Amino acid sequence: MITMNAARTVIEDGAIAIADGRICAVAGGVELADRFEPRRSLNARGCTVHPGFVDAHVHPTQHLIRFAFPETFHYDDTLGFYIDFILALTPEDEHIASKLACLEMVRHGTTAFLEGCGSVLEPDAAAAAVEEVGLRASLADPYVWDVGGPWSEPLKPRIATDRRRSLSILGGQLARNRDRSSRVRGHIALTGHATASTELLLAAAACAHENGVVLNMHQSYAATDTADDDRLRGEHPLVHFERMGALSERCTFAHMNVLRDDEVASVVDSGMSVVWCPSASMLWGCGGTITGPHLDLFRRGVDVALGSDASNFSSRLDVADQGFLALLTSRERTLSPDALLAGDVLAMCTIHGARALGMGHEIGSLEVGKLADLVIRRADLPEAAPGLDPIRDLVLGARSHSVDTVLVGGEVILEGGRSCRVDEEQVRARAAASARKLLARMGRPLPQPSEARRAPR
Ligand SMILES: [Zn+2]
Repeated sequence: MITMNAARTVIEDGAIAIADGRICAVAGGVELADRFEPRRSLNARGCTVHPGFVDAHVHPTQHLIRFAFPETFHYDDTLGFYIDFILALTPEDEHIASKLACLEMVRHGTTAFLEGCGSVLEPDAAAAAVEEVGLRASLADPYVWDVGGPWSEPLKPRIATDRRRSLSILGGQLARNRDRSSRVRGHIALTGHATASTELLLAAAACAHENGVVLNMHQSYAATDTADDDRLRGEHPLVHFERMGALSERCTFAHMNVLRDDEVASVVDSGMSVVWCPSASMLWGCGGTITGPHLDLFRRGVDVALGSDASNFSSRLDVADQGFLALLTSRERTLSPDALLAGDVLAMCTIHGARALGMGHEIGSLEVGKLADLVIRRADLPEAAPGLDPIRDLVLGARSHSVDTVLVGGEVILEGGRSCRVDEEQVRARAAASARKLLARMGRPLPQPSEARRAPR
């Protein structure tokens, strides 16, 4: 049992007792058998148990357009596609997309996620899907922004780019936090990518602070949006944010692939979380894993969490996959196996992710008092053998293949790798049909299958 507590205790023959959805004891199996008479017991039969993974940057409603972009699209080509997507998306689409996304996440061992920067148009549709699959999530108000740019005009029928609208909806999702037992909570988010004035950013930071929640934003993804930010702020954005008093341990900024030397101290000193999304950069050839600051920030003590982003932007919602990529690229870049260890990656997927959601005291480790969100692996797979190091097995070896049983709040929501809550076939079939109808409404053709090209001789 890998606890991920502060001492990183691993218990050889561990057991865990759960009451009212929370962990009430963590100890050796023999000891707990003497202390409790459980109503129900699950026998992990020598398999690894660990805290549920936390995916700290996810766009669940973009699941219907996975691999809908032409494969040769560059990042800058995606804008027009996204505008068509947002204009055509219905609440029913957002519901089925989120359900599919949640299903995918839980099958990969994720028990909680942070919706990325207010990208869901109808948060109630996503919230319903999260509750149906049984995960935890934190949602934010849709598209809070007030700086024009190329989005502004075409999206006007759906989302106004103005400060008045943004300020009027800011904090609307926090009503979900009144019920402390709710699996769906609310936080504050700005769309980011240089679409918020400093005034709006300060209002959002104040709202997050007053309500004790996270302020989430896309930040410094690529050279283009970082240059927009430089122009808008008149200096490097992280330096500006620190000078304006907007940065704190409540901030969780996603991507952060482009950070200049003078911005590093602002990030480190603020205590903020940074969400590293390796494949959301790598799939587009953006260079974030080659020149990005994440490894350096991690070494300086920053809470670096991991994010899968959107399936159309990074392939799949498997936060441990992001850790695998983070580890490999870090070692390759530094020419050293010491750059990131599997245990470091496990911390990013669990306790760092929990802090990035503002839930570090509730989830992310197997400790008394925390919510009973955990994963039981299986060991009867060739890729899980010979089973010498449980941490390298689950980060580098068997990876998500060995996810067998997932508990959220003590409730089994996945067993034998299958959802206990929803009909998986029905979800997939409905999503496939909805995706085709959505693309038709967008006026976009179905994508061509990827080509196997031959160089001319
Ligand atoms: Zn994103």
